[in-house]
This record gives sequence, structure tokens and C-alpha cells, in this order.
Amino acid sequence: MDYDLFKKNYSYILSLASGNGIFTWLDMEEREYIDDTIRAYMGAIGKHKKMAGICIQANMERSYADVKKIIANDGIIRLVKGAYSSPGFQYEDKESIDNNFIKLMNYIFLHSEKFMIATHDVRMISTARRLNIKYKRDVTYAMLNGIRNKLAVELAKTDNVAVYVPFGREWVAYSYRRLKEAGHLSLILKSLLENQGI
Ligand SMILES: Cc1cc2nc3c(=O)[nH]c(=O)nc-3n(C[C@H](O)[C@H](O)[C@H](O)COP(=O)(O)OP(=O)(O)OC[C@H]3O[C@@H](n4cnc5c(N)ncnc54)[C@H](O)[C@@H]3O)c2cc1C
Repeated sequence: MDYDLFKKNYSYILSLASGNGIFTWLDMEEREYIDDTIRAYMGAIGKHKKMAGICIQANMERSYADVKKIIANDGIIRLVKGAYSSPGFQYEDKESIDNNFIKLMNYIFLHSEKFMIATHDVRMISTARRLNIKYKRDVTYAMLNGIRNKLAVELAKTDNVAVYVPFGREWVAYSYRRLKEAGHLSLILKSLLENQGI
């Protein structure tokens, strides 16, 4: 699709959702779509303040600048590690991605009131919870349906938790793409067994 059609469809969805009191999250896909995704979001938040959020990927080197720009415009961020590979533009290894995730979290906690921390990594979740003892922000922790469900249920006893559920006619293709991108087949099998109590 071209940018204008994307923007038109996005504005339509946002109007419909916010008119019905529903918050809308905008996913972030491959690197070549980041500029247009942020542009459409920034163009929309003035009209739909507090009803729209955008995903930012900690594996992308550009994300610190993006986070600053979005927060300066009162945007709402969902921080993830990032599911796509963009050699030359991203942090490659887990340690660098985790370090950047923590760096971005520190900035977000300091400068933003409301946001989402979307990860299944208990170290990231513990760091966020420690930061929130100091900052007392409106934080929601988010996980993908089927991954670490027990952790989500446990965390929901004390914190706001959301579970991301692929929904719609194309959900099988969507889930399959996520599986391939993450390259996490063994982790998914582990999670399935854990969810069955095995
Ligand atoms: C709510 C939500 C929305 C997201 N939206 C986007 C988006 O818009 N754009 C985008 O690029 N990415 C998105 N992601 C995916 C994200 O970028 C990561 O690829 C994904 O969350 C795995 O990273 P992690 O933070 O869990 O950390 P990791 O370090 O990858 O994993 C930490 C631990 O969690 C468990 N785990 C992680 N993934 C799996 C899995 N697939 N199966 C089983 N166990 C697993 C394992 O025990 C692992 O050791 C989203 C994730 C969530 C939770």
C-alpha cells in the first residue's frame, strides 16, 4: 500500500476506535516502514491524544531519537525488543539489545506518564518494576498470547498486564510470520508445554 492510503485507513480506524473509547496501538514492522509509521502516528496524535500509542523497537539504533521525539509530542510508547533483522541499522546481540532496552526504559520512565513495556524477559520486567517504585507511572506490561502465560497471570496480581491476541481472518498467517521472524520455535514449544503444565 502507499503512504496516503495507509494514513487514510489508519485515521479511519483511530476515529472509529477513539469515538468508542477504545485505545489503538500501532505495531512497528520492518525498518523501511519506520519513518512512515512514525509520521502517520505523529500526524494523528494531536486529534486523538491519549487514545493512540506506537511501538518502538529497542534493537534499532535510531530508537533513542525516535522515543525523544514521540514523547516530546505527548505520544504514548510500547517498548519492545524488536522482531525484525536490519543489519547495519540495529544492535545485533542480545546483550546490546537488552542494554538499549534498559536505556530507553530509563528515558521513558523519566519523561513519560503512561506507556507499555512489552516483553517476556523477567530481567526487563524486574528493572521496570524497580524504576516504577521511584517514578509511579501508569505502566502496562504486555506479553504475547501463549508465551509465559503464567508470568502474565502472576504479574497481573500486582500490576497492569495486557495480553496481545492476534485476531481476524488472517490470524494464522500473522502468527506464522511472527514465528519465522523471531526464530523462536524451541521457545514456543517450551511455552506450549509450560502452558499445558508439562
Ligand atoms: C505485546 C507485544 C507486542 C509486540 N509488538 C511488536 C511490534 O509491533 N513490532 C516488533 O518488531 N516486535 C513486537 N513484539 C515482539 C518483540 O519485539 C520481541 O520479538 C518478543 O517480545 C521477544 O522478545 P522478549 O522481549 O520477550 O525478550 P527475549 O530476550 O527474546 O526473550 C526473553 C524470554 O522470554 C521467553 N520468550 C521470548 N519469546 C518467546 C517466544 N516466541 N516463545 C516462547 N518464549 C519466548 C523466553 O523464555 C526468553 O528467554 C511485541 C511483543 C509483545 C509482547
